[in-house]
Amino acid sequence: MMIIMRTDASEAEIAAVVERVRNNGLRAHISTGEERTVIGAIGDGRSAYGFKDQFMLLPGVDRVVPISRPYKLASREFRPENSIFPLNGVSVGNKEIAIIAGPCSVESRSQLMETALAVREAGAHALRGGVYKPRTSPYSFQGLGEAGLEILAEARQTTGMPIVSEVMREEQIPLLIKYVDVLQIGARNMQNFALLHAVGESQHPVLLKRGMMATVEELLMAAEYILSHGNQRIMLCERGIRTFETSTRNTTDINAIPVLKDLTHLPVILDPSHSTGNWNYVTAIARAGVAAGADGLIVEVHPQPEAALSDGSQSLKPERFAELVKQVKAVAQAIGRDVAPAPALNSSSVKIA
Ligand code: PEP
Ligand code: MN
Repeated sequence: MMIIMRTDASEAEIAAVVERVRNNGLRAHISTGEERTVIGAIGDGRSAYGFKDQFMLLPGVDRVVPISRPYKLASREFRPENSIFPLNGVSVGNKEIAIIAGPCSVESRSQLMETALAVREAGAHALRGGVYKPRTSPYSFQGLGEAGLEILAEARQTTGMPIVSEVMREEQIPLLIKYVDVLQIGARNMQNFALLHAVGESQHPVLLKRGMMATVEELLMAAEYILSHGNQRIMLCERGIRTFETSTRNTTDINAIPVLKDLTHLPVILDPSHSTGNWNYVTAIARAGVAAGADGLIVEVHPQPEAALSDGSQSLKPERFAELVKQVKAVAQAIGRDVAPAPALNSSSVKIA
């Protein structure tokens, strides 16, 4: 349930309500809005709303209302205003569109540095690159692991771009958070509840991808796991779902973008690379995603897609990515949004070995 405080409630009144919530064995999640504070009182299994009478009479409380959705902290009922995810000068969830780009996998220093410089030049705000790869075959390239993280750290140092990289197992979290600014939970792990708890506890920013066979509600329940630990820096990502259609790798669920924007305050980004599986469709679907209201994009880029160790067929060459950014900017401006200019490079004379 939500305990909605009066606009003139004092700090002491808010603290007293939070204490009463905890004394009842419920968890208190405080959301400080522009006008008033809302305290989410979440029970473990029990209906927290059963406690409502106790709270109605406390000083500073305006009203107590149930949260009707199964996800509580993720719902717009709990937090009507957009949550903002700060990413390299862009407030993701606000007016400006954020663009994350880079290879599917970190393969070598030269591949990563060349891609990083090219995507930054084209206007990307953050760099993606997997070092732990969830591959369908155990014989496919599995990622460079820690050696790849060192390469990502160098790219961050050189370009100033924050790093997004996938975490596959809880044990990887302490190492990853030394190098990575945003932990990606991949589609295959969206319902790995132990991992969701662990990234929630880490308090590290998270990019949570929708499972390829998950409903929008299941995605929001997955986000709820992370939010339940007080970790609020989450971007949700639509990355295509499985349908009967075989002409593309997945089917981009464009509907999910406005649906998510309606149901949750969390920012929503689109991955047109995995959702199509074909570089030739990526730009069109990126445009569609932004037109539909996505707050950002995550796009796979590779200097030589034909030689890529993973997802070459859906990777854009750098010059095609630069064209994507231009087109997406035009779409964003047409709907009263924009693509933020990328912050300046850290160093202008970068050598690629
Ligand atoms: C990826 O981002 O490279 C990836 C494996 O994505 P997904 O989990 O959406 O398949
Ligand atoms: Mn990939």
